[in-house]
Amino acid sequence: MDALETRNSARPSHISPEEWALRVDLAACYRLIAHFGWDDLVLTHNSARVPGTTDQMLINPSGLMFDEITASNLIKVDFDGKVLEPSEYEPIYAGVVIHGAIYLGRPDVQVVVHTHTEADIAVGALEDGLLPLSQWAMRFFKRLGYHDYEGVSLDMDERERLQHSIGDNPVLVLRNHGLLATGRNVAEAFSMTYHFERSAEAQLKIQAAAASGQKIVVPPEETCERQSAQFAGNMPRLMGQREWPALLRLCDKLDPSYRT
Ligand SMILES: [Zn+2]
Repeated sequence: MDALETRNSARPSHISPEEWALRVDLAACYRLIAHFGWDDLVLTHNSARVPGTTDQMLINPSGLMFDEITASNLIKVDFDGKVLEPSEYEPIYAGVVIHGAIYLGRPDVQVVVHTHTEADIAVGALEDGLLPLSQWAMRFFKRLGYHDYEGVSLDMDERERLQHSIGDNPVLVLRNHGLLATGRNVAEAFSMTYHFERSAEAQLKIQAAAASGQKIVVPPEETCERQSAQFAGNMPRLMGQREWPALLRLCDKLDPSYRT
């Protein structure tokens, strides 16, 4: 049985093959975030726009750890948080506010990954934010939005400000809170998350080392711009596609129940 057949073998008949494949990828993304240690108990949320719709998304059930997420327990909701198919779970309201804001403001975005990690929060709390100090960070050079902390996102009127803060950028730094990474599919959004995490971790180590008096070497601006443009537009495929099959194999080795 090949990978696609395995995915579809657990598919309930009322869910289209396209939506099921997306659910499997999104459930894998949750498992990977837990595996890499970027989860935050049952908090934070990742989502995907339902294929063929403009106003529906799949998001995690409130109260489940990320390693408990499966393709079938993801909840289908509209952007007001109304649950659209029978479920024993409720969505996380702050997730509806934040993810709905991005989908409403950015028709190009199909997936949103939201993390709270120490590295995200530390870099976001620095006035200059993420700096181009590593190859990982180059893809974000002048391609990051920043959003000032307003408290837990429970007010729908924050949506307009979130949309303004992210602009056309693929990633939004939520200062003092975490990160929002977007993608045109799950693999791209996960890749954005992965590279931001590695960038932030490296930056914090560099800045800690420099506290001893060492001077930090920063590549010239034109080098950063050239590399950022290459990552943004000149790659033969979307970011993250090359490693996604390998990441699914990792998920299968860890616990294949995400596919159910
Ligand atoms: Zn959050």
